[in-house]
Amino acid sequence: MTLTLPPYQSKLQGWPGLIEAYKSYLPVTEKTPVVTLQEGNTPLIPVPAIAHQVGRQVEVFVKYDGLNPTGSFKDRGMTLAISKAKEAGAKAVICASTGNTSASAAAYARRGGMRAFVLIPDGNIALGKLAQALLYGAQVLAIKGNFDQALEIVREVANKYPVTLVNSVNPYRLEGQKTGAFEIVDTLGEAPDWLCIPVGNAGNITAYWMGFCQYHKIGKCDRLPKMMGFQAAGAAPIVQGNPIAQPETVASAIRIGNPASWEKAIAAQQASQGSFTAVTDEEILEAYRLLASNEGIFCEPASAASVAGLLKVKDQVPTGSKIVCVLTGHGLKDPDVAIKHSNNQFKQGLEPSIEAVAEVMGF
Ligand SMILES: *Cc1c(COP(=O)(O)O)cnc(C)c1O
Repeated sequence: MTLTLPPYQSKLQGWPGLIEAYKSYLPVTEKTPVVTLQEGNTPLIPVPAIAHQVGRQVEVFVKYDGLNPTGSFKDRGMTLAISKAKEAGAKAVICASTGNTSASAAAYARRGGMRAFVLIPDGNIALGKLAQALLYGAQVLAIKGNFDQALEIVREVANKYPVTLVNSVNPYRLEGQKTGAFEIVDTLGEAPDWLCIPVGNAGNITAYWMGFCQYHKIGKCDRLPKMMGFQAAGAAPIVQGNPIAQPETVASAIRIGNPASWEKAIAAQQASQGSFTAVTDEEILEAYRLLASNEGIFCEPASAASVAGLLKVKDQVPTGSKIVCVLTGHGLKDPDVAIKHSNNQFKQGLEPSIEAVAEVMGF
């Protein structure tokens, strides 16, 4: 007997992944073998408590890209980078990573039947991300150095040996990531006034700008947002105007001292009349707690930089604006930071009785 799928199967499956959904805007052909985990189509969630803090009748939304298959926006670029690597016959890929790129590269490479090598800064990677790279079966190589040094090494290795580099210097990464901008416009019916986004290696701000410009050019939106980039104060090379040799911040995903897409990010900021601003770790953690405890949204610390930044420059927000903050990664990526920096307590060592529990509950 042959098994036939019921006619509603494809509807049940729903979203096909972003390459299939946006293929006419992406550098793919019918021959491209699509490696997908049905990434993209992430929610644009209103955050009224944050809008209230900004005031001025603004509407604020978060683009919760932590809901991608490996828990960060990196999947948007990786589905395309890995599909194109497979199309070109690659057997292995390599990347340097503060964590999320390695998790994503590992998952998509394995999905596409390729080996993945990932270089991470020794002892400086969030636990959830390391767990992912290991379980997806990547070769994880921790170097005694920071992200910027790891990136230099993998660029050389990919030049010399038959492995494809899948950091955001791979142009397909940015092409895939620009779909975040498409989704925002498709949902809002227009571009927002501001796009607030954390900036590390500066690939994502570059990609979002590409996406908005492409949609604008073909008439899908009739304006362009101001690109508002936010860096952590201890890792703010673009804000300071020079590379940082020893970047430091609690937001490990943006602990980067010499961004690869520096010039492109500046170009996006200038063309959009946006700005780059530094936010302190305290401000990042404050926004991180606010998102979780007031909006029910758990993102990783680096992601909260977009909201921290918005709150920092809220006096510049025009009345009635629509603002989107990109939440780049899921909070479960970094449980250590969550537990260490929660203001919340939990009761330990209670007697296992209704009375003891009720008493603590205040009844
Ligand atoms: C990679 C990453 C960033 C920084 O993005 P860039 O493209 O490097 O600027 C921010 N937040 C999270 C969670 C990330 O994984």
